[in-house]
Amino acid sequence: MTPARRQSLAVLCSLAAGWAAQRVWAAAVPAGRVAPARFPSEPFRLGVASGAPSADGVLLWTRLAPQPLQPGGGMPELSVPVRWQLAEDEGFARIVREGVALARPERAHSLHVPVQGLRSARTYHYRFIAGDAVSPVGRTRTAPADDEDVPRLRFALASCQHYEQGHYAAHREMAGRTLDFVLFVGDYIYDSSNPDYLIRPHESPQRPRRLDEFRARHACYKLDPDLQACHAAHPWIVTWDDHELRNDYAAAYAVGDVSAGEVLAVQAAAYQAYFEHLPLQPIQWDGAGRLRLHATLNWGRLAQLWTLDARQHRSPQACNEAGTAGGQMLWRCRELADPQRSLLGPAQERWLQQGLAGSRRRWKLVGQASQVSPWGIDTPAGRVVYSDGWDGYAPARQRLLQGVADAGVRDVVLLGGDVHRHVAASLRQRAGDPRSPVLASELVATSISSRGLPGAVMAAIRRSNPDILHARSDERGYMLCEVDTQSLHCDARATAFPVPAGARLHSQARFVVEAGQPGPRPA
Ligand code: FE
Ligand code: CA
Repeated sequence: MTPARRQSLAVLCSLAAGWAAQRVWAAAVPAGRVAPARFPSEPFRLGVASGAPSADGVLLWTRLAPQPLQPGGGMPELSVPVRWQLAEDEGFARIVREGVALARPERAHSLHVPVQGLRSARTYHYRFIAGDAVSPVGRTRTAPADDEDVPRLRFALASCQHYEQGHYAAHREMAGRTLDFVLFVGDYIYDSSNPDYLIRPHESPQRPRRLDEFRARHACYKLDPDLQACHAAHPWIVTWDDHELRNDYAAAYAVGDVSAGEVLAVQAAAYQAYFEHLPLQPIQWDGAGRLRLHATLNWGRLAQLWTLDARQHRSPQACNEAGTAGGQMLWRCRELADPQRSLLGPAQERWLQQGLAGSRRRWKLVGQASQVSPWGIDTPAGRVVYSDGWDGYAPARQRLLQGVADAGVRDVVLLGGDVHRHVAASLRQRAGDPRSPVLASELVATSISSRGLPGAVMAAIRRSNPDILHARSDERGYMLCEVDTQSLHCDARATAFPVPAGARLHSQARFVVEAGQPGPRPA
């Protein structure tokens, strides 16, 4: 029996103590003090995760929650010391870093442990120990050194995992792959339900509004064993989209059922719960209402990756009632052409533009929530666009592309999600004009589980947008990408909707982008 297994057995034995023991435990130590940890039931039910890989470090995550769906996660109002260990081997014979971190009730007993001083481009194993309980073992990987000539980068691109609409076969497959990281670009949870597509219910039919409700929603997702396996297998690099709070929200404008007076409070709760459940650096959250999600990472000399935040800093969608957010199908809306409007906010736009222009890495990969290439539909009454996506912020998109053109930046690949379809597209200086130069390539991963648009709509989108090489919304899955100095290959992994528990994925299509020749081609 491994030490970990023996420890787990000890945890199981302590289950017998049950709730009575917890009451004794909680009563023995006054609130605010550090508790000795003996758990009435398994505290690591939400698994482990790692993220934010760099050349010399990684972030380790877990959360103590013996009753994950209960307020407080079934933990007492006490801080609990948790030992963490990082080793070169799975058996923890060669531990290279360890320490103790405090799981505090005001952070839902989540832990975000930055580990530094590691070797670059190495695989490590990690676990947590709280009292007599030992977590599952996670595997993670550091980035290559900045100046390293890395031959290859392998990653998975994923988004949109509506728990109610299907199972996580895609995560199970990703967990079994050899990857450097998973890039997850939003809709990690969904605030909303649709009774027409109900495979398994959320923990509650209510939309979360308060902190404990958002925590329970995240816990509901995190209890999925395939999602846990994918977190335990690879470091994740994450950004968010809208459903982590409300469909089609924008900055702090009123949206849907959230009034102008409530939005800051609901947003603070959503952002805190998001931070508490994802492997983010502690410095990314300001402890109140804001999270810094936009970030960049070098992958040796081979690639630079930017992740963008397209929600927190954007202008409200065009032609809405003043002061409100929300998406709609739009045509003949003059505000769409207003150059003052921004999807990323001026500061993030500048940061990205300067970063792209100054990058010395071969591949410039931009991970962001949605589809950048146009996908509006031509009708006899004019072109109709959905106002929440980049089509609703066309001048901002043009600024981004013009910046790429002006600086002569090559090998820019946009990586997106949100639209629940696999997409491969070219971004031209003048969209839809075959004589206009292609400036960048785009690959969008379909949803892990969330329903896509009807086939007739997809046909109209393809017809209206000749720069789209591929767009299919009928299947769920993720993109599996491999990058080397010559080319970027992506395999659109897919399975039918809705995804049953035991589903297998297949290759829906394969794409290649050759270095120096923007625009994806079939591979
Ligand atoms: Fe989605
Ligand atoms: Ca979305």
